[in-house]
Amino acid sequence: KLASRSFQEHNTIVKVKDVEIGGNKLVMMSGPCSIETEEQIFKLAKIVADSGAKILRGGAFKPRTSPYTFQGLGEEGLKLMRAAADEYNLLVITEVMQNEQIDLIYKYTDIFQVGARNMQNFSLLKELGKVDKPIMLKRGIAATIEEWLMSAEYILSGGNKDVILCERGIRTFENYTRNTFDLSAIPVVHKKSHLPVIADPSHATGLRDQVPPMARAAVAAGADGLMIEIHHDPEKALSDGPQALLPETYLKLMDELQNIAEAIGRTL
Ligand code: PEP
Ligand code: MN
Repeated sequence: KLASRSFQEHNTIVKVKDVEIGGNKLVMMSGPCSIETEEQIFKLAKIVADSGAKILRGGAFKPRTSPYTFQGLGEEGLKLMRAAADEYNLLVITEVMQNEQIDLIYKYTDIFQVGARNMQNFSLLKELGKVDKPIMLKRGIAATIEEWLMSAEYILSGGNKDVILCERGIRTFENYTRNTFDLSAIPVVHKKSHLPVIADPSHATGLRDQVPPMARAAVAAGADGLMIEIHHDPEKALSDGPQALLPETYLKLMDELQNIAEAIGRTL
């Protein structure tokens, strides 16, 4: 299998402009759940840049559980995020939900995100296998590691070698947290595969208070980076407000992560 360690012994390093994902330096992807307004995305992009992170996240096409909630700004959102990222010298990652969106999103993003709900959208994965930009593949809500790696195989076998995996929690019987963060997936995937693994403690827990401890744990467990949702006014966020870190908490967390990274011989 193309994703397996037996196929390739050395770690894959995904290069996106001047950023390397999967190397010694941890990569932070931070930003709001959804792009909401020009003011919001510029404000948050500045915080992301100030924190030393290199990648701005934000959704323009949102996979919402309810059709009656905010569905994303679409192309308008992509434009706003690209402008904010360029202003602060950041890269962009955003979710693609269907094949028809690939060409449009391609114009604005540096990395395509495949969300948990689309991990087994095989037609989307096949199309993304033909794209010349990296793909971050999130683990499905109820997917085993084996199934997740097989989905990566769809992209790799299509010719796109720049696949990044993202552990974002799985569905279990536990309802206190939104999902159950499968921390052990990080070392398991590192053993089975050469692909980089990003941890997303925001979606994994769904609760602001749980994000810093799980972020620290993920770095200690060897994650190649983190995806973290932030918002300056979470009460008013149009999606995922309860899990968004306030800017000051986020900046403090980034400092703490520095020490943990150094303790395991990596840098932030
Ligand atoms: C997201 O990153 O905003 C998102 C919807 O994540 P997931 O697909 O992991 O639920
Ligand atoms: Mn979200």
